[in-house]
Amino acid sequence: MQKLLADLPNKAKKKKAENKKFFSKLKRRPPKDLDYVMQELHEEAFSQTDCLTCANCCKTTGPLFTQADIGRIAKHFRMKPSKFIDAYLRVDEDQDYVLQQVPCAFLGADNYCSIYDIRPKACREYPHTDRKKFHQITDLTLKNVAICPAAYDIVEKMKKRIDL
Ligand code: SF4
Ligand code: SF4
Repeated sequence: MQKLLADLPNKAKKKKAENKKFFSKLKRRPPKDLDYVMQELHEEAFSQTDCLTCANCCKTTGPLFTQADIGRIAKHFRMKPSKFIDAYLRVDEDQDYVLQQVPCAFLGADNYCSIYDIRPKACREYPHTDRKKFHQITDLTLKNVAICPAAYDIVEKMKKRIDL
């Protein structure tokens, strides 16, 4: 897995132009069954992926934290939301709350998330490949294929399966 993760940014870079072209066509003419196809590709990829041997998303990029996430996680730690923010979060250029640093402070050495049941919504949904109207998040996906091996494979399979 470590070699695969180390090679992933380069592999994604080589596919960038091809992916951009495919996504731009997808945005113009999304197939009617896109949600269904993405659900299938997502389930297939994650049935063959062990996130516990990877955790690259938690190590290299953080989620954004909504107010609901902050309230829920702060309550778990019996902290005031403002104290939780001071301890773990910062505001990014889009005015969103994000982690002060990566790897995420809640990631254990065994790749388990110590707040798994109450983790941020963005963590639960990452890499968003089963999202409805997937063609609306292709810019984000272009970045995610360099981070997430499952997202990379899903996009490669999409290009074979969807004839645009
Ligand atoms: S979601 Fe992707 S990047 Fe995150 S642990 Fe699973 S395979 Fe790795
Ligand atoms: S909160 Fe948990 S799932 Fe989310 S980035 Fe941190 S360790 Fe990963």
